[in-house]
Amino acid sequence: MARKPRVLVTGGAGFIGSHLCERLLSEGYKVVCMDNLRTGSLKNVTYLGGSPDFEYVHHDVSTYIECPGALDEIYHLASPASPIDFERIPIPILKVGALGTHNALGLAKARGARFLLASTSEVYGDPLVHPQHEEYWGNVNPIGIRGVYDEAKRYAESLTVAYHRHHGLETRIARIFNTYGPRMRPDDGRMIPNFISQALAGENITIYGDGSQTRSLQYVDDLVEGMIRLMYSSERRPVNLGNPTEYTVLEAAELVLKLLDSSSELVHKPLPEDDPKRRCPDISRARESLDWEPRISAQEGLSHTLRWFAEQRHKAKGWAGQRTEGPAR
Ligand code: UDP
Repeated sequence: MARKPRVLVTGGAGFIGSHLCERLLSEGYKVVCMDNLRTGSLKNVTYLGGSPDFEYVHHDVSTYIECPGALDEIYHLASPASPIDFERIPIPILKVGALGTHNALGLAKARGARFLLASTSEVYGDPLVHPQHEEYWGNVNPIGIRGVYDEAKRYAESLTVAYHRHHGLETRIARIFNTYGPRMRPDDGRMIPNFISQALAGENITIYGDGSQTRSLQYVDDLVEGMIRLMYSSERRPVNLGNPTEYTVLEAAELVLKLLDSSSELVHKPLPEDDPKRRCPDISRARESLDWEPRISAQEGLSHTLRWFAEQRHKAKGWAGQRTEGPAR
């Protein structure tokens, strides 16, 4: 019987990583999920532990990676990615983008594994070209608050391309635009989890600035499909993976309120430093090279996500109730 292909997912216990692990398992892979749980959570992958093809390894990829056994592919996702993390843990972000990517590439080279880097739309910074296509070099402030993430990922892209050019490694680069879905941390600080958590709690919805800045909203299943197609394609150039439907932050908030039938008020807060004014992917390359485009509308994706957040809230309340009502020790 042919050996099952074995894949390493760094950052596998994170929001996107856990969805990718789940999908790869369902496609018949053996999956090694590696994470240091700095922003990921074991809760995201515990239920995968029942599969004999799933293995969890607790490790910080910024230090040398041991991964015994055959390895056919590496999806390198490990990195904190929320703007609140950029101020909270800037040095681990720089380290995982630089040292972590170096270690993951070194492992791929040693094993002859195909390598996919999870890069980001942040490489375009506060873009002067709209929508953003892959030939655009970006407008990044290297010493701004967001610079730690943007520059770490730009360096990671350079290193990935150098490993291809210099060592002939099979490499792929996904530039991931705003993505949402179940398993985002409720306290992740990003737009969608903030709006949903606030609306569910009946709190005010925080709009940073006047809310006219734009983002695209990609449901996580569409992204995972794009990443897998990219790994299998022969496309070595960076590929934007995002939903090309652009929303203002205000429109996104109103959509969440409408779907939840919530009467929470919108309140304005200061716009964070270097917050990009417009962001929307040009996905022509993904369409041509991967025959891929997002399939899930914002309404549909947000409905799944809202349901998941509501369930988590319900469970958390149940647990809190059990604790307070339980027998005294
Ligand atoms: N944002 C907001 N209220 C929030 C969280 C975010 O208005 O409670 C805005 C933020 O300023 C940005 C957009 O929503 O313009 C998307 O922010 P997010 O943190 O999701 O990610 P980014 O795209 O900035 O990396």
